[in-house]
Amino acid sequence: MAGISKILKLKKEGGNEVKTKVEKSTQKEKKKVDKSNDNTSESTSGRCISKRWVLPLQYEDLYEVDRPTLGRYVDVVVFRAFALSIIKYLGFNSIHKIYHAGEDFGRSLGVKTIDELIECFKYLRIGVLEVVEENPIRIRVYESVFCSGFPNIGECVCHYERGILAGCFENILRKKVEVIETKCCACGDDYCEFEIRVIGDLTT
Ligand SMILES: [Zn+2]
Repeated sequence: MAGISKILKLKKEGGNEVKTKVEKSTQKEKKKVDKSNDNTSESTSGRCISKRWVLPLQYEDLYEVDRPTLGRYVDVVVFRAFALSIIKYLGFNSIHKIYHAGEDFGRSLGVKTIDELIECFKYLRIGVLEVVEENPIRIRVYESVFCSGFPNIGECVCHYERGILAGCFENILRKKVEVIETKCCACGDDYCEFEIRVIGDLTT
């Protein structure tokens, strides 16, 4: 099931709410992931590590959350620290990978319209999205999960978010797109602004 369908279903079910402990006891049946070809081994630092390059998890697996006490959401600091750590430890070249990783996740959301995109960003609490221009498409994101409140460092920093937008607009426009961040809270702006540029046709 595409992400937007999951999101709409969760929203209908009140997916934001913390579930009671009574409900927890009825939710114990877990989907088994086929790891028959997995090659795992004991590690000194964790229970086991996979020798795969890719974990046998799909984006849709991430929507299943079993946190009866804490609920679905986490402080933005955790997301920000994770993103900052990747750039810090993997270096400047990781920015392109972060963008493409965001693109991959954006595609998985399966949004087909701008309204679904706005709904998606709001539900996932990535930010409050507004279309300010249609040709070329210009998007503003208020309350960005990554950069809102950041000091002015003179550099746009929302690489994962612009990747997500790229993946989403690829689905909406059925074209290959590139997304540029032209304004950012980390540049002293009150919001982030992104320009969506069509760069070609989809190959498949
Ligand atoms: Zn930004």
